[in-house]
Amino acid sequence: MTGAALEVSGASRAFGGVFAVRDVHLSVAPGELRAVIGPNGAGKSTLFALIGGQLAPDAGSVTLDGARIDRLAAHRRARLGVGVVFQAARIFHGLTALENVMVGAHGTTRAGFLAGALRLPAHYRTERLIRSRAMQCLRRTGLEGWADRPAASLPLGQQRALQLARALCGEPRLLLLDEPASGLRAGERAQLAALLSSLRGSGLTMLLIEHDVAFVMRLADQVTVLDLGRVIASGTPGTVRADPHVVSAYLGT
Ligand code: ADP
Ligand code: MG
Repeated sequence: MTGAALEVSGASRAFGGVFAVRDVHLSVAPGELRAVIGPNGAGKSTLFALIGGQLAPDAGSVTLDGARIDRLAAHRRARLGVGVVFQAARIFHGLTALENVMVGAHGTTRAGFLAGALRLPAHYRTERLIRSRAMQCLRRTGLEGWADRPAASLPLGQQRALQLARALCGEPRLLLLDEPASGLRAGERAQLAALLSSLRGSGLTMLLIEHDVAFVMRLADQVTVLDLGRVIASGTPGTVRADPHVVSAYLGT
């Protein structure tokens, strides 16, 4: 037992005989913000999926607070406290921001979405509770003013915040984020960085996958660098930045 919140041990995953992730070891302490960086195709999203449960590893293990989760389906990992913010926004464009969070929040209560949709009298109270809880989640990411807007009309920065609000509503023990800053303008990136920094301050354990090195270097406690599916460096932002292997992986020399 290491006391790690997340432990990835010897994890490998191949597609058609080509390793996307190869013998990756990663140990994240409770409350740590760990960044995983690497060039395109390094295996970052595959590693994310091995932890989140969208993929099972061919070899190796993933443990959450000491319990094996690598054979569990994604929804079961979610129930154990693995929150995910995917690289491509998975929001319901036809619903409002608030409804988007409510759809997520229903999963955490015994009242199904269908029961809510049928508006059975007994569910009115539950519906109200879910609504107020969803509103709290929007507030955590600064979206209270956007609650009744159609999700499709939100600027990209707010759409990312909405994904985060939904993930946070599940009260994760571990939050996985796949390139949350991609496509954002400088001001939106700064807002996202401030939000992640405040979540870190609240003690949430996070694994932040990023292509943009500058974005993570200011935020992360520890940085793991992937290249061609393997870990080529791991340590504090300062040591990793100075590592010649990292420099050459990024510059292709
Ligand atoms: P990153 O997120 O770092 O850009 P990925 O994990 O998406 O990298 O991809 C790593 C490698 O695995 C790439 O070469 C990619 O083409 C391959 N790969 C990823 N997912 C699949 C898949 N579902 N089928 C086949 N190849 C895949
Ligand atoms: Mg990716």
